[in-house]
Amino acid sequence: MRILVIEDEKHIAGFIKQGLQEAGYAVDVAHDGQEGYFLAGTEKYNLIVLDVMLPKLDGITVCKNLRKDKITTPILILTAKDVVDDKVTGLEAGADDYLTKPFAFKEFLARVRVLLRRKEGLVPSTLQVADLMMDLMNHKVTRSGKDIPLTVKEFLLLEYLMRHDGQVVARTDIAESVWDIHFSTSTNIIDVHIFELRRKIDHGHKKPLIQTIRGRGYMIKA
Ligand code: CA
Repeated sequence: MRILVIEDEKHIAGFIKQGLQEAGYAVDVAHDGQEGYFLAGTEKYNLIVLDVMLPKLDGITVCKNLRKDKITTPILILTAKDVVDDKVTGLEAGADDYLTKPFAFKEFLARVRVLLRRKEGLVPSTLQVADLMMDLMNHKVTRSGKDIPLTVKEFLLLEYLMRHDGQVVARTDIAESVWDIHFSTSTNIIDVHIFELRRKIDHGHKKPLIQTIRGRGYMIKA
């Protein structure tokens, strides 16, 4: 298994490289976007770890270009904590997952392993609740076989609910996981998105899947 790490901050790149090598992976490091894009296009990798803020060519552009070149290698992007939109932009650009800096290496390695296994088809790449299906690789959602177009935020919110199928999730958990913000009762951003999800997913179906649990949060359940 060979991994390409595109990261300009030398100490982070070194720390990632060492950890991955200790975990048994072969690692190449590129220190700017141009070099990374070149290596990703000319060498064979099982995974690319891609920082967003890079000299010469930013990570989002690198990601977009690789997908345009039909390079399907899984991409894990590293985003800065204060740039909330990076992960949305990254996923829209074709990345498979994201991790916010600073991160614990254990968490990083877990994401790496999931992406590598998912690519090999060893991890289910779909989530299902009743007749609602989510394709995590292609970012597609269907209910009763019918396509449901979602915004990136709606997708992330639904993914979070579906990963906790049958469990009540609190607004605070949703806010932190999906929006990277601390929930404040003065914001209705989550309710607005739930409203939209319901309209798209449950409207016109006999059995609604998204439930409001009063005073506790939301739950998706078959
Ligand atoms: Ca950087």
